[in-house]
Amino acid sequence: MISGFTMAASTLEALTLPGYEGRLKIKRDDLIHPIVSGNKWRKLKYLVQRAEREGKSRLVTFGGAYSNHMVATACAGAVCKLKTACFIRADEPLNNHYLAASRLYGMELIPVNREAYRQKHELYQAHFGKTDDTLFIDEGGASTEAQAGVADIMGEPGMDADWVLHASATATTAIGLGKGIVAGGLATRVHAVAVLNNAGEQREKIREAGLEDIVTVHEEFTLGGYAKTSDALMDFIRHTVAGTGIMLDPVYTGKALIALQQLNLPGNGIFLHTGGTLGIFSDVYLKKLFS
Ligand SMILES: *Cc1c(COP(=O)(O)O)cnc(C)c1O
Repeated sequence: MISGFTMAASTLEALTLPGYEGRLKIKRDDLIHPIVSGNKWRKLKYLVQRAEREGKSRLVTFGGAYSNHMVATACAGAVCKLKTACFIRADEPLNNHYLAASRLYGMELIPVNREAYRQKHELYQAHFGKTDDTLFIDEGGASTEAQAGVADIMGEPGMDADWVLHASATATTAIGLGKGIVAGGLATRVHAVAVLNNAGEQREKIREAGLEDIVTVHEEFTLGGYAKTSDALMDFIRHTVAGTGIMLDPVYTGKALIALQQLNLPGNGIFLHTGGTLGIFSDVYLKKLFS
């Protein structure tokens, strides 16, 4: 076990959604950490263990200026006494609360333009590749270690429902859940709600992992793309947060929960709240909520 990186089972609670008839529970991965996205903490668990096992002293990763993964990596580094650095796509403003939180956790932020950002391995090699004390972590934490960290969710108490639904971007979470279902011999099915227009890519990864019978990707809830919103989504978030006490964001969990309500799947289900609560506190969304 590693110093300080705690990962107890998250709680599973009943959830009453206004206007939703089905039996529903919520897996509170949003409560894993007050600042860090629970989903990203899950994904980092075995990566950080690997860094410690291999004697690394630094984690280096990549992200946009609103990356939950960046904040999670910064925090994990601070907790485990590892240095952290993140290459940021810099044609975005460099003064938001994600970047501030990452800096507070001691992360070195390296702004690069979009063109350079595409050459991730070259960037990494040029800055850190000459030393062997650094662990490279891909954007969003995507890795087999991340899948294994997510798979652990399905081994926690009460997860053998008919289905689990969650917000999906890279399909790492979906594949991790699928692997956990296979490992546990469960009959549970995964409904991955694509939050951007890459459902085809997500399905391809799920097929490659041999999980197409277990995981279904839903592509009709993107609202036109990543971080795109609608008045209906903002209304839903305002009502649901006030009606349940559970914080939602418009990029991930808000889109997924509105999809859950509209899909109205049969049987008893679990909404996996993947965290990401920093998302709603961006100026642009606050204006949309309360203008
Ligand atoms: C990153 C993230 C997701 C998407 O996870 P993937 O494994 O990339 O599909 C969902 N919810 C939240 C809150 C996230 O931060």
